[in-house]
Amino acid sequence: MIALFNRFPTLENRLPHTELGVWPTPVDCISGTAIGVDYVYVKRDDITGSAYGGNKVRKLEFLLAEAKRRSAREVMTFGFAGSNHATATAVYANQLGLRGISMLMPQAISHGLRRNLLLSHASGALLKHYGGVRRVAAGALLTSAMRRIKIGVFPMIIPAGGSSPLGICGFVNAALELKKQIDDGTLPAPPVIYVAVGSMGTVAGLAIGLQAAGLNTRIAAIRVIHATMASEDRLKKLFAQTVAYLRRLDTSFPDVRWIPGQVEWRNEFFGSDYAVYTAEGVEAADWFWKQTGLALDGTYSAKGLAALVHDARSGRLAGQTPLFWNTFNSRPAFDAVNELDYKQLPPAFHRYFEEDVQPLDR
Ligand SMILES: *Cc1c(COP(=O)(O)O)cnc(C)c1O
Repeated sequence: MIALFNRFPTLENRLPHTELGVWPTPVDCISGTAIGVDYVYVKRDDITGSAYGGNKVRKLEFLLAEAKRRSAREVMTFGFAGSNHATATAVYANQLGLRGISMLMPQAISHGLRRNLLLSHASGALLKHYGGVRRVAAGALLTSAMRRIKIGVFPMIIPAGGSSPLGICGFVNAALELKKQIDDGTLPAPPVIYVAVGSMGTVAGLAIGLQAAGLNTRIAAIRVIHATMASEDRLKKLFAQTVAYLRRLDTSFPDVRWIPGQVEWRNEFFGSDYAVYTAEGVEAADWFWKQTGLALDGTYSAKGLAALVHDARSGRLAGQTPLFWNTFNSRPAFDAVNELDYKQLPPAFHRYFEEDVQPLDR
């Protein structure tokens, strides 16, 4: 049973949930001497699910269970072209007999983006490309209506990144899972968790769950998307909405409040744009690869780790063992993808394969 239901049994009957991953994800301890700390703990959310790992699997356990409960046949979600969330949704929707519909927007080109598009297509997802947020909104209305006409039901909408209060329950659970690993002696309570911030659900859920677990671990939240999409104010709102949601379902869920200082909001590792790799990120990812054999993505996890490396080098983490939450999928692409030709994708996506990847990903 997942940690959230163990700790709050009432929620088990009130929240839709289907197991997609294997829990708990392991915690590894790696040497940090090259960057100025003795050790770094790594929470292995790169291997949450066996078909596709990464942090989105935790949210999808709730969101896709809700889609099944509502008898939806399709789930529509949103993101940039290389979205790990859209890919994870396509893969696990397919596993549950649902179809993913991904409404995607332009971003810088990388190998990871290509792989995600191919995985989504191989999972039967309907992929659509729009030039910007307004066009996506119009496209979503039109596409929903068309699907209703074609198959009789509207797709269930899953917000970008899966960061609705229901999806965020996945990361409230993740913090309680970590608490159990601390109690088991897997690791001591970390002083600080480093994690990249996109749609903010990961950090919102962790902040709530850490408090519910009685841990005073801080979170270094490294913003990797535009400030118009992610801000501390919006994070606070998401935090409050999710606590209210959980307390409506189970009055025994603690009335946790936003604590200034629990989340340290970091803007300085974003670089020039979303999904544009930074030199610090690439360097941090190289160090991580040497320690673990695991690849990070330049869009999210490498920028998150760059903040940890920076703080370790500057002496801010002296005598401490930080925890890096590895949010990036490390599962190899399944066979179907290797046989795919990008020309089978809708034409709007061909340019992502025909133009060169960005310089730092070559
Ligand atoms: C989505 C994502 C994040 C950020 O999670 P949010 O809950 O959207 O803030 C971090 N790392 C990776 C690899 C992701 O795909």
